[in-house]
Amino acid sequence: MTDTAPTIFAPASGFGRSAVAVFRISGPATGESLCRLTARSLPAPRRLVLRTLREASGGILDQALVVWMPGPGTFTGEDMAELHLHGGPAVRAAVLQVLATCPGCRPAAPGDFTRRAFLNGRLDLTEAEGVADLIEAETEAQRRQALRQLDGALGRQVAEWRDQIIDLLASAEATLDFSDEGDVDEDVLETGLAGKVRSLRDAIAAALDDGRRGERLRDGFVVVLAGPPNAGKSTLLNALSRRDAAIVSPIAGTTRDAIEVRCDLGGLPVLLIDTAGLREAGDLIEAEGIRRTRARIAQADLVLMLDDGSDAGIETELPSPSPPLLRIRTKADRPSFEATPEALSLSAATGQGLDTLLDAIQQRAAEAMGGDCALITRERHREGLTRCRDHLDRVLQGAALPELVAEDLRLAVRALGEVTGHVGVEEMLDRLFAGFCIGK
Ligand code: GDP
Repeated sequence: MTDTAPTIFAPASGFGRSAVAVFRISGPATGESLCRLTARSLPAPRRLVLRTLREASGGILDQALVVWMPGPGTFTGEDMAELHLHGGPAVRAAVLQVLATCPGCRPAAPGDFTRRAFLNGRLDLTEAEGVADLIEAETEAQRRQALRQLDGALGRQVAEWRDQIIDLLASAEATLDFSDEGDVDEDVLETGLAGKVRSLRDAIAAALDDGRRGERLRDGFVVVLAGPPNAGKSTLLNALSRRDAAIVSPIAGTTRDAIEVRCDLGGLPVLLIDTAGLREAGDLIEAEGIRRTRARIAQADLVLMLDDGSDAGIETELPSPSPPLLRIRTKADRPSFEATPEALSLSAATGQGLDTLLDAIQQRAAEAMGGDCALITRERHREGLTRCRDHLDRVLQGAALPELVAEDLRLAVRALGEVTGHVGVEEMLDRLFAGFCIGK
């Protein structure tokens, strides 16, 4: 960022009423704006001081604690300030209005502060994603994973692999440059390069072979409730989530679309999805619901296949390969209920069998997401690392043509650079930071 970059400001503590609201300012005009707002000279750096905030005419806006943090040792790498105001909407609006009139200042867009931190080299892209994930984290395991990424676990590892490939590239290029002079072995793979490429390739392949634990933890373990209409899916979803998220109704085909509920099961995020009844479509909207149901089942980490023992439904078709399945025989409280050995007996009405089911879901979620923290937490990382591994594979298979070896190594470096944000990221930055909240 340059001195001509606009100075940005935003509430950093969310909207709505609160005891204290924190505003952030970042950019070259921060100091000047702070002086203007407090009608005083700048306080000592990094000391929280009490100041009266004033509008241009001298009228009092609020009494606030302010801190002045000159760059570059700040979150964004720029001059920054924070204002700890009283958190009423009128105070907030008045201060926002005055800041907007400060020369060189504009309101921040979502993710603007973190974007500047990235552009100024304070964070790599994976750490910036860690910031976003930490803010979004709803469960303990998600918080730990985000913190680990923010701390640079993935970024450092990828940077290390990238450095190693750059070294290999340098030696491959030396071979290429000197091969005409006859004093370097013609066959670059003979120079010990192959062993090094193979061990790097294996390390990256091992990181990729993680059962997508990281992505699952970020997005939630997807449990789909499926089965014929009136099997008791919506009632079970309500009982599981202890919320009235799905409409329970005795009329077949009421659940026209998937209804999702996020739950925290023992610190693990679980996404419960109730689906339209699987049966012959009564009308077009229901047909669409059934199509979506099938798509959901195909993506599920676990399918709860419900039936109440009546033969109202059709035999449910499962995609191949079928996701893990747990059969549930519902309405165990009814006098006519008949248990079956393949299915868990459950009554959402009385709660019988609910704890057993919750334990079973939690155990499967823990198997899918638990254990050591995964390095990879997004499809974006997986895609970059997969591309890198494929280029290393080509180096290993790719005979010994030095030009091709060097080119594949170069592409492998590039793939890793995209993960950390070293290269080719402009377009992706817009997408990534748009997903942040204002003030971050
Ligand atoms: P869905 O179409 O599979 O979502 O089924 P619903 O959850 O809407 O339930 C269909 C009907 O079965 C409703 O009348 C529910 O009240 C009833 N039902 C659901 N679960 C139970 C249960 O555990 N016991 C009894 N007796 N009735 C239930």
